[in-house]
Amino acid sequence: MSRYLKAAFAALAPYVPGEQPRERKYIKLNTNESPYPPPQKVADAALEAAKTLRLYSDPESHALRAKAAEVFGVGMDEILMTNGSDEALNFAFMAFGDAEHPFVFPNHTYGFYSVLCRANGIPFRTIPLNADFTVNTEDYLSVRGHIVLANPNAPTGIALKKKEIERILQADESRVVIVDEAYADFSDENCLDLIHTYENLLIVRTFSKSRSLAGARLGFAVGQAALIDDLNRVKNAVNPYNVNSMTALCGIAALDEEGYYREMCSRITRQRERTAADLRALGFTVLPSSTNFLFASTAAHHGKWLYAHLKENGILVRHFDQEGIREYLRITIGTEAEMDAFLQTLQRILKEAEGA
Ligand code: PMP
Repeated sequence: MSRYLKAAFAALAPYVPGEQPRERKYIKLNTNESPYPPPQKVADAALEAAKTLRLYSDPESHALRAKAAEVFGVGMDEILMTNGSDEALNFAFMAFGDAEHPFVFPNHTYGFYSVLCRANGIPFRTIPLNADFTVNTEDYLSVRGHIVLANPNAPTGIALKKKEIERILQADESRVVIVDEAYADFSDENCLDLIHTYENLLIVRTFSKSRSLAGARLGFAVGQAALIDDLNRVKNAVNPYNVNSMTALCGIAALDEEGYYREMCSRITRQRERTAADLRALGFTVLPSSTNFLFASTAAHHGKWLYAHLKENGILVRHFDQEGIREYLRITIGTEAEMDAFLQTLQRILKEAEGA
């Protein structure tokens, strides 16, 4: 680091993304990507878009926004397209947080929230999850500050009921409640239709998980027009051409293939339930997941030990070396063949350790 870097960043421990290994080929169950490719239509759209790259992208992502508004049943002024949902989160934190307006979120949740607060000089407070890793709604009813909840939560996979989110929204309408629905397509509930009722609700979604477009970097925020206008002000101040034209066309093509994505999501949720049952049969504690990953632990081995042995054997999962969750592994759901390989390898590792 140079001597010129300002203090907020010099002191910042950045968000650590999951490994993207180059040295060998792994079965990659560590960053919650989809195991399925996007449909051919998306590849065709990328090729078509390549021809127009001489020109700047549309700063208002008009065509993509129109398509997304139609698919998600909201007005065009109620949606903002972003460079991954991380950017939507950043815009929201920048728009609403400052020294007088702190953020509040659970102690175990998406690690980017605390990093965004630190980067933007926003104070924050974390609230412990219950012992079973669920969110206690009561804790959020009278807290001071804006709230951000990943729902379903990561890395636990547990969803908070929509009516509980409504209680939080209603308790104090002077706070913005950001509901990060990165994994909502794997859940049986979401809060999208609540935006018409609550002016303080901002929903953040991504194309990275259920829509197989993590590398395209596409996300969006949904809320009442006034909130979206706030985010647009931030966007136009920091990155007006935030969605590139190739990604925009891929996004439109992706939204034309809702049937394909629904089928991929149901394959993933089927594999999730089968893998959870198999893990439980091996003596694991598996939290009830509404996402495309499982959060699981066993009393027999440390999380770090299991992570390392799986990695040695060509399987990459995610381990968080943090108090309260370091016994757990977060396992992304892959294809049926990948989950077979994962379970067989895990079984062999457990058996070898027993014999040792
Ligand atoms: N929110 C949550 C809860 C996530 O797990 C992720 C993925 N790391 C994101 C947001 C960001 O996803 P992206 O920027 O790829 O849209």
